[in-house]
Amino acid sequence: MGDVKEEIEESCREDEEKRGDRLRAIARRLVAIDLEKGFWAYVGRERDHFLIEGLYCSCSSFALSLTKRAGCEHLSALRVAKRSGAVRELKVDVASVVWEIVSVGLSPTLRKALLEQQMGEDYEKGEGSRYDED
Ligand SMILES: [Zn+2]
Repeated sequence: MGDVKEEIEESCREDEEKRGDRLRAIARRLVAIDLEKGFWAYVGRERDHFLIEGLYCSCSSFALSLTKRAGCEHLSALRVAKRSGAVRELKVDVASVVWEIVSVGLSPTLRKALLEQQMGEDYEKGEGSRYDED
């Protein structure tokens, strides 16, 4: 058996060649929650995932891939995001986010922080008023 990190790198590379558009769409839902450590979160429609860059993803297809060749579309998309420089960072309590994702399947802490960041950006663009309505 080869090195897992090399396996993941290889499967990410192949994925990018085969379906770059899909990966770019997934990449837009990725946020770095600790860029230095390589901790990321994927914000899904129903489930969130926790990722360690180039090494791990909490999704079921990553778990299943371990018996064949390690990798999943989230890790591939993360590689795409890093290479394109489209990295979105979010300051959150990493332990809470990881715990919520692993135990409940999605992270209210993460979603709340994302919403607050979005509101801040809109406010700076002069679009804050739509959040002020009761
Ligand atoms: Zn995954």
